[in-house]
Parts: sequence; C-alpha cells; structure tokens
Amino acid sequence: MDEYGNSGEGRATRRDEAVRAAVEQGLLGPDSPIVGLLDVTGIRESAAELRAAFAEVTAPGTPVLHAFAVKATPLVPVLRLLREEGIGAEVASPGELALARAAGLSPAETVLDSPAKTPAELREALALGIAVNADNPQELDRIDGLVRSAVSRSPLGIRVNPQVGGGSIGATSTATATSKFGVALRDEGAREWVVRAYLDRPWLSRLHAHTGSQGIPFPLMAQGVAETYALAEEINRRIGRPQIDTIDIGGGLPVNFASDVTAPTYAEYARALREAVPGLFDGRYGLVTEFGRSLLAKHGTIVARVEYAKSAGGRAVAVTHAGVQVATRTVYVPGSWPLRITAYDGKGRPKSGPEVVQDVAGPACFAGDLLAEGRALPLLDQGDYAAALDTGAYYFAHHYAYNSLARPGIYGFVPDPARGVRFATVRDPQTLASIVAESGGAHAGALTTLHAPGSR
Ligand SMILES: *Cc1c(COP(=O)(O)O)cnc(C)c1O
Repeated sequence: MDEYGNSGEGRATRRDEAVRAAVEQGLLGPDSPIVGLLDVTGIRESAAELRAAFAEVTAPGTPVLHAFAVKATPLVPVLRLLREEGIGAEVASPGELALARAAGLSPAETVLDSPAKTPAELREALALGIAVNADNPQELDRIDGLVRSAVSRSPLGIRVNPQVGGGSIGATSTATATSKFGVALRDEGAREWVVRAYLDRPWLSRLHAHTGSQGIPFPLMAQGVAETYALAEEINRRIGRPQIDTIDIGGGLPVNFASDVTAPTYAEYARALREAVPGLFDGRYGLVTEFGRSLLAKHGTIVARVEYAKSAGGRAVAVTHAGVQVATRTVYVPGSWPLRITAYDGKGRPKSGPEVVQDVAGPACFAGDLLAEGRALPLLDQGDYAAALDTGAYYFAHHYAYNSLARPGIYGFVPDPARGVRFATVRDPQTLASIVAESGGAHAGALTTLHAPGSR
C-alpha cells in the first residue's frame, strides 16, 4: 500500500467494519433496510492526494483551485468536509450554488458552469464575485450587459469544446463534434470568434474546457487540455499580454469500478498532463480543476437488506431494497455502469461460502430493476445484506423517485477506538410525509376543482 492507500485495503477494511457497525448500531435493519455510507477517512485521503498531485507538478506559488463538481455528490456536509480539506466547488445550477453556500464556501472557492444559466443566475454570480465560464456567444452577450452595468470581481472566461472526440460512454462524452457544451472550437470561424471575444474584452481572463467524464481515455483528456492551453497561448500572443491568467481544465478522471484499487491516480494524471503540456505548469497560468467522480465514488457504499430470497427459472434472485431509485444509471444502462456487489450476513459480517450465480434485484416494480444480473456471489439469504460499492458519486445522492421509494439516510463514518465505528448523519431518511408533500399533497383537490366550460 502506498502513502495514500491506493491499493484500497484500508478502504475495504473500513467498509466491512462500517457495515457491521451499521447493523449493530441499528442504522440498518428490518425497519431501515437501506442506507448510504460515506467513508470520511477515504474522502479526506482523496482530497489530500488531489492537492499533493498538482502541488508536485506546478511551479511554486501557482494558484490552484480544486473545485469539486457538486453534481457528483450534492450533499452539504460533503462539501463542508471537502472545504476543510482545501477543496472548492464547481456548481451548475441555482440549487448547487445554494448547497455550496450552505456549506460555507466563499465565492472565491466557487466556479459556475452550466449550459443554461438564466439572466438572474448570471446576475447573482457576478454580484457575489463567483467565477463564471460563458458557454456560448449568447451567454457572453448577457455577461457583457452585466459587466457594463456594474463592477464585478468575478473572474470570467469562456468554455470551449476542443472537439477531440468521445470515449466509451456517449452520455459522459462532452468533447464530441456535436456536444452541447461550450464553443465548438473546430467549427468554421469559431476559433477566430473566440480570439476576438478576448481581444474585445480585456476582462476575460480565463479559459475553460471539460473534455468528458467516465469512459474518456487518458490521452484524449490530455489532448483536450493541450488544445485548450494552445488556444490560451494563441490568444495571449495575439493580444500581446498574458490576459488569460487561469486555465480551467475540468474534471473527468475515470474511476476503477472493478476493484478497490484507485486507478488511475491523481498523481499519474498530473504527471501525464505535465508531460503532455509542460507550459501549463511553468507558473504563468493559475489552474482550476473540477473533479467529481474521482473524489467521491470509491468512498460511498449502498447497503440494502435482502427482503426475500427466491428462485425463478433456475436463477436465484435476492430481492433487496436497492435498485433504480439509488442506482439509476446502473439499472438502465447496466453495460456501461456495472457495480461491484458484496454479500454480508444478517449481522453485517462478510459472507463466505461457494459462489452462486444470482440476480440482485431492487424493490421497484419493473422487471429490469436489477442491481446486478447473473452475478457470482455467496448465496444471499433473507435478512442478509447486499452492498453496492463505489457508489459515493452519482448514485445515492441522485435519488430517482420511481415508485415513490423514500430517499435512504446517508451516514458518514470513521473508525473509533471505543465503539468500533462512529457515524454522523449526512442526510436523514426521507419520511412518508415528505414524499406526500413533494407529490402535491398540499394541492390534493386541485384538479377536481377545475371544470371545463359546459361540464359539471
Ligand atoms: C460533470 C462535470 C465535471 C465533473 O466530472 P467528473 O467526471 O465527475 O470528474 C466537471 N466539470 C464540468 C463542467 C462537468 O459538467
């Protein structure tokens, strides 16, 4: 194991202890059959690893803001924890900005990117001094108006799409020829338009690109960054001064969902970037990064009780409480988003025994609601627990309200010498009253009071 525990042994041990303690301490059981668990130690380690990786490759004194992509894990206590570890926030909606502010993040630690910012959002961001990357010419027009009418401390830039191509997962490939994000740099006239935009606006000081997320190969990510850097160099050369002083390289480091090993690491990525784009790190540019999945994924676990164990057509099926509501992408696109599953017994101890090919099903009422299909695992029995690993990003924090299934409680944990494991509530389990309220409960009679002309 290296300094940061990248072999994942410490993480696996902490996870097993947390599952057992969650059962012992009553967080998990017949009446609370699903929880999300967050490994606070692991989150801190990843944050430290990220900072160290870029500190190693940048010239001394280079300003670097690591802005966590809030969409990966939109939970206020997580943002606060990351802030304590020196990590800011990348937000892409009024809701995400509200979460970042509730977590205590300052405008200087926050970056706003979204392809659909309204005039009100832009006005608020500029009033607060939050960094904004304009997605397209129409948005830049709106920003022009705001800059003319008021002074803002917001660092402002343009998002470009280097159009270097996509990866293995279309939905997370943001640098394809026709991607909806940013100014498509290779389109006819686009590069010249971008250069002019900076020439005409001395206050544009940043350049942003996010080449994609899970499924983008390393060299393609590096190419996206290299092309962004080359554009910044061209713009500064044409203007004759270093007007662009900060490059935002986006996030997108892929996560290894096949084992506990962290691969690739931030250190590997930072070194690969320095190799591919040395000028980016020589101190002339400040850096912003926007990692999401790679900071949180491996530190989250969904644990669900097996309500029933049955057999159908010769296949063992464990019916659990974790399905499409907490693992939406996996259930709908299982080929792109497979999750590791581990089996625990009714006391939360890792299950051993011969492996049996079985389905791990969720609670939702459609046949495809499977967390894993045909997976070889120790046979899950009624009252056991199935855990879906690496679900700290884009899973349990992304509840899908199918079947009005309640959002599970989320608990952070740390090893504790006295009690084994200490938990803190990150999000309470959703109550039935809250489900009713979110489903129009306050307007129960609304539709029966509407009558078309001529009807009763
Ligand atoms: C989603 C997103 C990120 C984070 O991507 P990850 O793959 O989670 O690291 C960063 N920047 C932008 C603009 C994004 O849309």
